Amino acid sequence: MSSMLRVTELETAYGAILALQGMQIEVNRGEVVALIGANGAGKTTSLRTISGLVAPRRGRIEFLGQNITGWRPDRRVALGLVQVPEGRSILGRMTVQENLEMGAYLRRDPAGVSADLKRVWDRFPRLAERKGQLGGTLSGGEQQMLAIGRALMARPQLLLLDEPSMGLAPLVVQEVMQWVQEINREGITVLLVEQNARQALRIAHRAYVLETGRVVLHGPAADLARDPRVVGAYLGGRTA
Ligand code: ATP
Repeated sequence: MSSMLRVTELETAYGAILALQGMQIEVNRGEVVALIGANGAGKTTSLRTISGLVAPRRGRIEFLGQNITGWRPDRRVALGLVQVPEGRSILGRMTVQENLEMGAYLRRDPAGVSADLKRVWDRFPRLAERKGQLGGTLSGGEQQMLAIGRALMARPQLLLLDEPSMGLAPLVVQEVMQWVQEINREGITVLLVEQNARQALRIAHRAYVLETGRVVLHGPAADLARDPRVVGAYLGGRTA
């Protein structure tokens, strides 16, 4: 298996608060890797550091064999490291199509961009039906669909997903997880941050458990889903 992302000894602080304290993870090409943990464990900070939105105090981020630790976020996007932010950040007063086009703003291949737009319409017919509608009028699930579609427009090799299940009804959460699985099967590697550990472990190949900015457990998702420490702390006492 070839390593796509390797994060070592990452330390990220907000003023005096040390949110990541030597965090280490690795993602191989083709995997869905889940990062689970309680509120405030550092999940969002991990993704924001990997995508370059916050700078680490220490540590190293390697993507596709390059040390990208000091790179600007847009340069990382151009290399194929694309984040779907928490809360989706859909532009409510722009149309569905304009939101999708925003995802391709760094690209200089108009023919490729229109081909990818067509692919998004094919993958998500509900977006195609609503292409002229304002982003803010979509349901929560549709907004998540749009946020993922917008990330696909940047041609990701590794998709960073921050809590895609947040605020969605259980059936919609299952749908979102299914999209993630399909996208992965088509060749996109995924790093998934979730508070909903049960759903994340169901679709992930491997997972890391984060506590106070450190990885405390990791392994195949199926093993973690049966691990008493995970079951007790993150699965409400029931196996996944
Ligand atoms: P959540 O599920 O609530 O998003 P999380 O696991 O993603 O939690 P982070 O949001 O990464 O955790 O937060 C890690 C720590 O950093 C917490 O102690 C949090 O209070 C702190 N923190 C996060 N963002 C900021 C910020 N902008 N300023 C100050 N402290 C922050």
